[in-house]
Amino acid sequence: MTTPGVRVRAPGKLNVFFEVGPLKDDGFHDVASAYQAVSLYEDLWAEDADEFTIAISGTVDVSTVPADDRNLAVRAARLLAKTIGHTGGVHLDIVKHVPVAGGMGGGSADAAAALVACDALWGSDLSHAELQRLGARLGADVPFALMGGTAIGTGRGDELSPALAKGRFDWVLVTSEAGLSTPEVYGKLDELRDNGAIAFARSQVRDVAPGVLHALRAGDPSALAEHVRNDMQAAALAIRPELRDTLELGDRAGALASVVSGSGPTTAFLAGDRESALDLQISLAAAGYHALHVHGPVAGARILHA
Ligand code: ATP
Repeated sequence: MTTPGVRVRAPGKLNVFFEVGPLKDDGFHDVASAYQAVSLYEDLWAEDADEFTIAISGTVDVSTVPADDRNLAVRAARLLAKTIGHTGGVHLDIVKHVPVAGGMGGGSADAAAALVACDALWGSDLSHAELQRLGARLGADVPFALMGGTAIGTGRGDELSPALAKGRFDWVLVTSEAGLSTPEVYGKLDELRDNGAIAFARSQVRDVAPGVLHALRAGDPSALAEHVRNDMQAAALAIRPELRDTLELGDRAGALASVVSGSGPTTAFLAGDRESALDLQISLAAAGYHALHVHGPVAGARILHA
């Protein structure tokens, strides 16, 4: 009997707060992150197959995405198969909308989508906690793409606890054609801290600022704007100085907060409501930027039923 395919949708993310600790001996950084899943999605279709294969298309440039075993979605499917002892393969068809190497966790969303899809396709019915554990082995942002909504991440960002959030937050995103490598941005951050270009107290406490949690709980974009922070921003701007112009334009066009998303180069602009977001989008588009209006929080990776 042929099992019908499974379709899953998984969101990209913004870090509305991202504090990065010092480089540790294991090569990683501890972080304190407030994640918000936003309405820019990856769509994945999984069908039974003898081997593990993948096709990738999308509304963003996918030419740099590996279409083989290096792809995070294929790695996710293989990891699940090995964990549950599934002997067959899967064909994955991904339609990407999250910019590649854009600092929005698109690859992690694909991995989360593949875990959810293959779990349903192969009938393994793992618990959410088991999927989260597998996700954490694939990448720090995969557990959040499974969870969605709003969450606080500590450790490498993968030790998650859901955060209470009310209402909806409207954002305008400006995407760039050329991505930024996350390890390169972390490397630049370490360099800027080591040479004193960025003041950095190694002993600082790594916690999401209480004001962020209050603002999210109150559904108050103006309050959230006061606490938006991204330690990666200085490093991303050092590599791509032109992003500073984009951020300044957003400020002038009325954004409540303008910030680089994760490791960049996507920039995110917080608006007070839908109408203000539309105005912001128009101003940024008029200046020649590729501007998208999204909102959050939205659900994590989930099956779409026909
Ligand atoms: P981060 O989660 O670190 O913020 P990002 O959002 O900046 O990552 P991604 O789009 O997730 O970046 O991908 C980063 C790199 O991972 C890509 O340049 C690509 O080489 C590789 N990669 C592997 N699998 C995928 C995938 N399914 N989609 C996109 N990139 C992938």
